[in-house]
Amino acid sequence: MASGVSWPLPTGSWLGVVGGGQLGRMFAVEAQRMGYRVGVLDPDPTCPAGQVADRHVAEPYADPEAQCAFAQGLSALTLEFEHVDPAAITGTDAHCPMTPSPAVALMKRDRLTEKQTLSAHGFPLADFAPAGDVAKLHAAVATIGLPAVLKSTTEGYDGKGQRVLRTPQDAADAEALVAGEGSLRYVLERFVPFTKELSVICARGRDGQTRCFPLVENVHVNGILDTTLAPAPVPAAVAEAAAALATALAERLDVVGLVAAELFLLPDGGLLINELAFRPHNSGHYTIEGCATSQFEQLVRVLAGLPLGSTELVRATAMANLLGDLWPAGGEPDFAQALTVEGVRLHLYGKAEARPGRKMGHLTATAPTPEQALERVLQARRRLTP
Ligand code: AMP
Repeated sequence: MASGVSWPLPTGSWLGVVGGGQLGRMFAVEAQRMGYRVGVLDPDPTCPAGQVADRHVAEPYADPEAQCAFAQGLSALTLEFEHVDPAAITGTDAHCPMTPSPAVALMKRDRLTEKQTLSAHGFPLADFAPAGDVAKLHAAVATIGLPAVLKSTTEGYDGKGQRVLRTPQDAADAEALVAGEGSLRYVLERFVPFTKELSVICARGRDGQTRCFPLVENVHVNGILDTTLAPAPVPAAVAEAAAALATALAERLDVVGLVAAELFLLPDGGLLINELAFRPHNSGHYTIEGCATSQFEQLVRVLAGLPLGSTELVRATAMANLLGDLWPAGGEPDFAQALTVEGVRLHLYGKAEARPGRKMGHLTATAPTPEQALERVLQARRRLTP
């Protein structure tokens, strides 16, 4: 670690991010606005964050030496994704304090370890059981029952590496999957009959101070986040319970940085944790327009040892993701059409190639009420539809 480092970091200090996607890009823009310099490690020479960073190191992630060299000269470092290389991050932390800590990052690397850790702390989760081979799969089905969701423990995000098992035949069909794919491991989880999907982000500073962003409602399509609405249309008691849960997660897991909790709302008003992310989250992009402090600025504040900012929702905001499916072959959507809708703002991530399912950007809309904000953002996105 940069020895003798004192908090808060003076402006001009270097903050680093491993992973140069859109999260790294929005983080870099906020950090630079606040006077810091930003280094990005990402092997892709054209990555979104590399385009705006002060320094871009295009080396492989799994190269501990490259990562340690990158970390030297940085005053604080953060990660943009979960699939980290253990040797690389442990070595890196020796040069520069990492957010999340290696302990948290390694816990999150594996879905089963994450669930076991949360369960050991008594946090509310859907019933789960390891299903990494045929015998375990059938034992898990016997314990948990059907329907259930089979998830890979290390490869899944945005619903990838998942399948719903509804019948004993589905379970039999999944045998080849759990037996066949070498290093991939699986966990079986009870299918949750949720009424809404919600999420909340809590920040925890180096001094242990915590602040939660407002609870939001998320809608997923094909396992990928489609829209976010802030505030979530739920009773105040649910929002309070979610904030208490996120704060307890940040404190008990000793998080320095952000914890985003994806939650299922149950018919009886209870909450279950679906999964966590220890970084800015797609469902927090609305904070740029909606809150007094954005999730990206909050992360900059944590990294730099600055006081956390107000998370007050200053206006109702909705966010809609823009996936590559909206891009016509060889062209781009008619963004001017979307921007004719009142209160709408466009965020593009600088990705050259549009592919189906690829997150290319997002729209936000602010409005006097959440319903109007959602209507505006959906109307704007419809205008982009080819
Ligand atoms: P994940 O990648 O685990 O966040 O899952 C992607 C999406 O699949 C979630 O946002 C839910 O819509 C759905 N899903 C995941 N786990 C379950 C579950 N146990 N029960 C019902 N739906 C689920």
